[in-house]
Amino acid sequence: MELSFDLSKSTRRAFRFSELDVAERKTSEFIPERYIRKQDALLPEVAEPELARHFVRLSNLNHHVDKGFYPLGSCTMKYNPKINEDVARLAGFADLHPLSPTSLTLGALQLIYELERLLAEISGFDAVTLQPSAGAQGELCANLITRAYFKNKGENRTKALIPDSAHGTNPASVTLAGFESVTVRSTPQGLIDLEDLNSKLSPDTALIMITNPNTLGLFERDITKIIEKVHSAGALAYLDGANLNALMGIVKPRKMGFDLMHFNLHKTFSTPHGGGGPGGGPVGMTKELEPFQPVPVIEKKTDGYHLNYERPLSIGKLQAFYGNFLVMVKAYTYIRVLGASGIADVSKNAILNANYLKNLIEDVLEVPHPQYCMHEFVASGKALRKFNLKTTDLAKRLLDYGFHAPTIYFPLIVSEALMVEPTETESVETLECFAEAVRRIIQEAKINPEMLRQAPHTTPVGRLDEVRAVKELDVCFRPDRKTQG
Ligand SMILES: *Cc1c(COP(=O)(O)O)cnc(C)c1O
Repeated sequence: MELSFDLSKSTRRAFRFSELDVAERKTSEFIPERYIRKQDALLPEVAEPELARHFVRLSNLNHHVDKGFYPLGSCTMKYNPKINEDVARLAGFADLHPLSPTSLTLGALQLIYELERLLAEISGFDAVTLQPSAGAQGELCANLITRAYFKNKGENRTKALIPDSAHGTNPASVTLAGFESVTVRSTPQGLIDLEDLNSKLSPDTALIMITNPNTLGLFERDITKIIEKVHSAGALAYLDGANLNALMGIVKPRKMGFDLMHFNLHKTFSTPHGGGGPGGGPVGMTKELEPFQPVPVIEKKTDGYHLNYERPLSIGKLQAFYGNFLVMVKAYTYIRVLGASGIADVSKNAILNANYLKNLIEDVLEVPHPQYCMHEFVASGKALRKFNLKTTDLAKRLLDYGFHAPTIYFPLIVSEALMVEPTETESVETLECFAEAVRRIIQEAKINPEMLRQAPHTTPVGRLDEVRAVKELDVCFRPDRKTQG
């Protein structure tokens, strides 16, 4: 009895309209005959209490950040304040039609414009475009801007440098934009190898894409030196800003020397995400690159806000309309509620929480880069090998303890990686509880490795064949069928 269709009983209703107080008219008076159904649609007929319970039950089958700790590294699964949702639901925002004339959407344009200015302040960049709807699209946007910039200068640069710890979207974006990606090695300490960088910089290099702090949660200490080298080769430096949650109010990416960057509104600025969206991937850039940003650009004039499409050097439009507007409303609300000092506290507490949890975990799991971390850290499940177990088994068993698993097997440069990002919104009790769960699981590994190999045991479905589960999505969960695949 899991689909709402299964609950259907003829004539039950969750809502009834009042009696008609005007004369009834036939649908065919308004809609051409050929569009009118011959039979009623087969919809579930369910009373409101059953309907409410149905959706609450569904929401409990899944793990989400309102239900429990979600330390998925590189994803910043922080708690999303509910006031963001209240504001995004205001009819003036939620019901706005994207084709409404500018004269009727000044409030929305003002919000977009002001959010651009807030992000410019946080990052130190001159201009920000809010058009890209994900970090990955922001990367593509920045690569296209870079290409247009060099084309305009009459330079033919074809290569983009990417450290081996980078997120997989980096080389994908580079390739989509028509550049060739070149890998830069990391040192054993987990930072960019300067010698390798030197040997790969050339007159062909268009840009370097750097994640800082990097995906090991480590700050690139030589960042200004690295960017100086890149600049002296005539190339641009791009910040993959997915880890901005560690920097806000502490250092501005522009001050490190970056020429452009992307933000992930859904990560750093608290829009619920996971399962594919919706997101926002704004791009910040210097004055020099600003003419190439996508159209339309929102401009503030004495008589209000305008959409400027007349920008001859622009890379053009990235999508219909202006991006995911309601995600912008949530990010704007989040920043305005916290204010400047609150935003700085976010990053300081994110770093504090990560270091505290790292210290607790270090007692039971190897942390290959044990130095002070930023907002996340990477442990290794290599020690489980002696019980013939893997990091996956630990991750699956964590689900039985009520936690979402950390990111596993990324970054690729750490074997049996377990990437933990607690975020600033978790209490000290939650962090201690999580570390205790990891400690107990390591004990279980010694006593009963087979039980771990079969975990999870308490979730709606057991250990899945993950490849098959993605290809053959089974959304009709039946409680009597515990495992699949
Ligand atoms: C999440 C992430 C991205 C991609 O961002 P999306 O918004 O998921 O497209 C890129 N780089 C890093 C380091 C990330 O963590």
